[in-house]
Amino acid sequence: MRKKELALEVIDRLKKEYPLAECTLDYDEAWKLLVSVRLAAQCTDARVNVVVEDLYAKYPDVNALAEATPEEIEEIVRPCGLGKSKARDISACMRILRDQYDSKVPEDFDALLSLPGVGRKSANLIMGDVFGKPAIVTDTHCIRLCNRIGLVDGIKEPKKVEMALWKIIPPEEGSDFCHRLVYHGREVCTARTKPYCDKCCLADICKKRI
Ligand code: SF4
Repeated sequence: MRKKELALEVIDRLKKEYPLAECTLDYDEAWKLLVSVRLAAQCTDARVNVVVEDLYAKYPDVNALAEATPEEIEEIVRPCGLGKSKARDISACMRILRDQYDSKVPEDFDALLSLPGVGRKSANLIMGDVFGKPAIVTDTHCIRLCNRIGLVDGIKEPKKVEMALWKIIPPEEGSDFCHRLVYHGREVCTARTKPYCDKCCLADICKKRI
């Protein structure tokens, strides 16, 4: 099966397996997803969702968080790990939103990418989830699964995986597809245990089926 055909088949099967395709970070405003995605680096989404409750209780909007010092932010976000650098980025990011974007999150990939602590993965996540635009979010699940399934061949570098996937995934499917890869990567095609190929809906088309 050619990669494009394989991609369409995988998209179709994952849709049936996981009808919902939602981000596992909780947020009700765009700026909160920006904060959460920075906190999620090397931390679980579940822990981030708990920690941000305290953060938003104390700093309920962009301006309030922009007024906080990095030290004040670090005090709260420390349980997510890498507290100092995450707090520094969040502080700088909120100040830029306040000063340059009228306290709003810009709806532009390059503008997002220029914000402190925002890489391609985060910028894509925001574009897809917040603005409903085409997006490919190459997190650890996406990279592992796409290699195992055979959608990419031996590519580990996130940007290269993203570029390869843009060529075979219909743009409007990208964001939901990546969310579903996260579900599948957590539940079936796991990283820390042997993947559960015997109960995988992709077993007959997967390159690496074990
Ligand atoms: S068949 Fe196995 S390796 Fe392939 S996607 Fe499913 S769980 Fe992962």
